Amino acid sequence: MSIHHQYDAVIIGAGGAGLMAALEASKVPEVKVAVVSKLYPTRSHTGTAQGGICAALGNVEPDSWEWHMFDTVKGGDYLGDQDAIEILCREAIDLIYELEHMGLPFNRRPDGKIDQRNFGGHTREFGKGPIKRACYAADRTGHMILQTLYQQCIKQGVTFFDEYHVFDLVLSGGKTAGVVALCLATGELHTFHAKGVFFATGGCGKMYQITSNAHTLTGDGMAVVFRRGIPLEDMEFFQFHPTGIYKMGILITEGARGEGGILRNDKGERFMERYAPTLLDLAPRDMISRAIYLEIRDGRGIGGEDYVHLDLTHLDQEVIKKKLPDIADFVRTYLGIDPVKEMIPVQPTAHYAMGGIPTDVEGRVVIDEKNTILPGLYAAGETACVSVHGANRLGTNSLIDIIVFGRRGGRHMAQFAKSVSFPNWPKDAEVPLQEEISRFRSGKGKENIAAIRSELQVSMMEDASVFRTESGLKKMEGKLTGLKERFKRIRISDVGAAYNTDLYEAFELGYLLDLSDAIVAGALSRKESRGAHCREDYPKRNDSEWLKHTLCYQKNGKLELKYKPVVITRFQPQERKY
Ligand SMILES: Cc1cc2nc3c(=O)[nH]c(=O)nc-3n(C[C@H](O)[C@H](O)[C@H](O)COP(=O)(O)OP(=O)(O)OC[C@H]3O[C@@H](n4cnc5c(N)ncnc54)[C@H](O)[C@@H]3O)c2cc1C
Repeated sequence: MSIHHQYDAVIIGAGGAGLMAALEASKVPEVKVAVVSKLYPTRSHTGTAQGGICAALGNVEPDSWEWHMFDTVKGGDYLGDQDAIEILCREAIDLIYELEHMGLPFNRRPDGKIDQRNFGGHTREFGKGPIKRACYAADRTGHMILQTLYQQCIKQGVTFFDEYHVFDLVLSGGKTAGVVALCLATGELHTFHAKGVFFATGGCGKMYQITSNAHTLTGDGMAVVFRRGIPLEDMEFFQFHPTGIYKMGILITEGARGEGGILRNDKGERFMERYAPTLLDLAPRDMISRAIYLEIRDGRGIGGEDYVHLDLTHLDQEVIKKKLPDIADFVRTYLGIDPVKEMIPVQPTAHYAMGGIPTDVEGRVVIDEKNTILPGLYAAGETACVSVHGANRLGTNSLIDIIVFGRRGGRHMAQFAKSVSFPNWPKDAEVPLQEEISRFRSGKGKENIAAIRSELQVSMMEDASVFRTESGLKKMEGKLTGLKERFKRIRISDVGAAYNTDLYEAFELGYLLDLSDAIVAGALSRKESRGAHCREDYPKRNDSEWLKHTLCYQKNGKLELKYKPVVITRFQPQERKY
């Protein structure tokens, strides 16, 4: 038994990307739009984003979208597609004003303009020195974006299915036909027949032990399409943010360094002087995370331990109070220390997936190296790879990515939905999901979901995080084979229908295992170091062989890798110094 719905456009996910897409799509007359989200919309991870959203407004000092574009290309170690990056940086400017007009409460300058602050890798005049480009609402920028967009969607009359988990994509005759979901409160199965389906399901950082990502970031959208034969792009590039609270991974925004915070080792040295003499603590994240690991390896972690200090003690108290109030609270709550007086213990934390579902600049999902489109399927935000972030994302570029490409995708999908009739709905569309649920329920094995997940997280951290080697990655590959075998023998202890989180966690663990597989396969194959992917056995970037995107396919339980060229328009690859 299932409950059937029909909408012209169905958006999966109610974070910034999903809400922006819904808002745009709902403005097109006669297009019926629904948003299906496993979380209540304002609980989406976008709401935790702290430091800022960038656009070259030039409110504090002269700026231009070309400089922003150059920084994004270079920050991504030349793997980003420059046609998409140009769109990102040009459209960012108008979109910030659009958000402002929707009522987003940005911090302001004395003259009333939106204030801007420094962030890693953002520079003036093509790398000459840091620039203030990040617009922000204290250290709650994402929270404000999410609230603002949600209000607009409600005003626009968008229909929401809150706490519905999508577990399958339905294809019919080479087109997208809809999705299958479970309602958390009742356990009922719901089918959504649609002309357009838009994945905006966010990131997947929960395969790592130390992560800034919420528990729900299990890469569902990526894994669902992956299992339906659609490739994932550049999954080996996973960003570690330099400053997670030690042992907890909770994020301390880069905005803290943007406001003048300094990283120090056990000797009290500002060690970034040695690694990035121009940008120092505002170098891109991949470089700083590696520098922290190297300091620790050389015995300069604090007290010989595996962390360093983030020093804010020299900042004006008022700056902390007005511009960084939330992170100051986190530090007081979780560590019991006052950042005004004491330094904060930090370590790199798994933060952001540069890879994801491949799309073109209209948000349309592409399924091969020739960029063939799968009609009706869209993606944007962290779940997608358009690819604006290349091999390493710059801080504040994700929030602008979700807004720019959420809007483009939502707009395109609505027009597409207007121009076509409903695809055929296959009569057994819900059967694969029903079968999977009964497999989980009738499992006779004794394997425990939490135990497998925690082994996955520990080993991914050891062998597939900031530094990688052939032998470590091979070890991880073997580990994954074992964990997947054990996963087949898991047992769901909750047999009820309502709020069966046990069942949902089983699905989510399966997704994390599949995505880890894609990360490791891409990382093993890519014999170079670029951006966040650092192979100690191949420490140099190798443009002649590896200036290309990875496409990873899952076919009959096996992985297959293909490659496609990077789009280069304005900026030829150069050495990456900061
Ligand atoms: C702590 C933290 C701080 C950050 N700070 C910044 C910052 O200052 N600046 C910046 O640019 N970036 C920042 N980022 C990154 C940025 O916030 C995210 O990349 C971005 O918000 C992702 O938005 P999204 O819309 O793609 O996904 P999300 O906001 O994660 O939303 C995903 C949505 O998908 C839904 N969903 C997922 N799976 C399913 C399913 N199976 N069925 C139905 N619905 C599903 C969820 O319910 C949710 O609504 C930060 C990230 C973190 C973790």
